[in-house]
Amino acid sequence: MKTNHEKCIDCGKCTKYCLFLKKYNINLKEYANLPKLAYNCYLCGECKRVCPLDIDGRQLSLNLRAKKIKEGYKLHRNGYGLLLLEKKNYIFKNYKNVNSKLAFFPGCNFPAYYPDTTKMISEKLKNSFGISTVFDCCGKPIAELNLEKEKREISNRLNNKFKELGIEELILLCPNCYYYFQYNLDIKTSMIYEHEEIMDSLIDKGNASKIDGAIFLPCPDKDSRTIYKMLEKYIDKSNIQEIKEIQCCGAGGCASIKEKQLTKDMQEGFKNYDKKIYLYCATCAGMITKSNTNVEHILCKLLNTNEKISTGIKSVKNRALFSIKR
Ligand code: SF4
Ligand code: SF4
Repeated sequence: MKTNHEKCIDCGKCTKYCLFLKKYNINLKEYANLPKLAYNCYLCGECKRVCPLDIDGRQLSLNLRAKKIKEGYKLHRNGYGLLLLEKKNYIFKNYKNVNSKLAFFPGCNFPAYYPDTTKMISEKLKNSFGISTVFDCCGKPIAELNLEKEKREISNRLNNKFKELGIEELILLCPNCYYYFQYNLDIKTSMIYEHEEIMDSLIDKGNASKIDGAIFLPCPDKDSRTIYKMLEKYIDKSNIQEIKEIQCCGAGGCASIKEKQLTKDMQEGFKNYDKKIYLYCATCAGMITKSNTNVEHILCKLLNTNEKISTGIKSVKNRALFSIKR
């Protein structure tokens, strides 16, 4: 896809606001000629938001990734072996006992990091609304590696599975799934926050007013803020300070495998916040908690589950447990 980077006027804004470009002392025009750094970009979009010409580093990086794959670059030999093993054909998927047209799809990270909250939502949806739960990965991590064939296979598998089970709509928890599915799934999707009746049955309204602190928006929601606007119904934004100085939690674009120190530097930025940091992306919560444990997923707060995030091997165990659940 075209990126118009040749039109760059060398204003330096993208370099100023991106730790990755700053590290290599390059702007987006120069990045376009550096395929060796294809997988080092976080696909966060901060460069496009500051560029006067709307040049998009995300697309530049994806183009470089496509070029590298075409030239025979082997991801499994370059740090991505485990990710491919888990996500190419998601090993922790579970479609047992599905019997509803509307299904709950919590994604892969939320159930791994917040198993009790996942169980609570899943049971409430089943018992009060007759909504089944399915566990799978949307396919975004593989798509971001720019593995076209594998990306298509995942989309086809998901679309066929939902068709076979008669699922016509998914209720989502994860912002990554939400934006990724808009272009890669045949059926309708919605965020849980859009379902007023369901939210009313789940949340503790008294707790919503207690949300006071800082908030960090996940990269895919930073442009349109669609999900953040959905949350307006449940939180008082005047009590919340938005963290704008940090470009990404460090998980974006699978770049942390190439840029270990830079990822740590991004995470360290969150140490400066004394107030509680609220998130609505489990992946962000998992990354930020490595440097600042005073983080909470907004949904856990709204539901009053007070669940502490599970990380490391515990999170893998949680994924595995949900995959065998009946
Ligand atoms: S997408 Fe993010 S990491 Fe990549 S060049 Fe732009 S600002 Fe930097
Ligand atoms: S912000 Fe845009 S115009 Fe400015 S240096 Fe970067 S790519 Fe060029």
